[in-house]
Amino acid sequence: MARFYEMLVERNKVMNLTTITEPEEAARLHFVDSLMLLRFLPLEEDGITLADIGTGAGFPGIPLKILRPRLHVTLVDSLAKRLSFLEEVIEALGLREEGFIETAHGRAEDLAGKRGAMRERFDIATARAVAALPVLSELCLPFVKTGGTFVAYKTDTAEAEVADAKRALLELGGRTRAVEHYSLPHSDVSRSLIFIDKTDKTPAKYPRQAGTPAKKPL
Ligand code: SAH
Repeated sequence: MARFYEMLVERNKVMNLTTITEPEEAARLHFVDSLMLLRFLPLEEDGITLADIGTGAGFPGIPLKILRPRLHVTLVDSLAKRLSFLEEVIEALGLREEGFIETAHGRAEDLAGKRGAMRERFDIATARAVAALPVLSELCLPFVKTGGTFVAYKTDTAEAEVADAKRALLELGGRTRAVEHYSLPHSDVSRSLIFIDKTDKTPAKYPRQAGTPAKKPL
């Protein structure tokens, strides 16, 4: 974790990865926040597949992989430069030694589109700080197998977003299972995780063309 943090702060000097660089803040707001998922979903069995959509500087995907080396992690982002930084991190930390991890460059809408190689292939999809839930659901649910779970990391807007996403979830084959609240250590920062079950296949017309989910949310 410390090595990843050092690489992040160093590379952040020459490219835009994060605005949070002070060590305690980064530990709390990036690392601990990313790992909070494990309190609710331990991810301890071998071979669970997880796609982190809009991983950016690698959150939550990289900290999860560090603590759960046997997790199969796919880091998705549309910005190639961020993914090449993450490839360096994967190498430097030896994250391939114990199991599978890859980066996938592209728009979520294309990678899990009708002809996308990543459609309905994952047990879990995660996303943190990427979009509001009605948009995010169209980007993420197509990656998840029926019976799998989509987890959205949120601030304190979770309940309102769930209400706004009701119709989108119904259309996309998802159903909200739970909203879990937590606060980050030594702070009054409250966060939440929305757990959405993939109950049905996503109809072939979703996701719509790249860009449309954000422009015309379901
Ligand atoms: N998850 C990270 C980064 C959030 S920034 C964190 O919590 O810190 C959002 C990231 O999502 C950016 O890197 C952006 O390139 C990516 N992104 C936004 N829309 C996307 C899309 N449609 N497909 C793939 N990546 C996308």
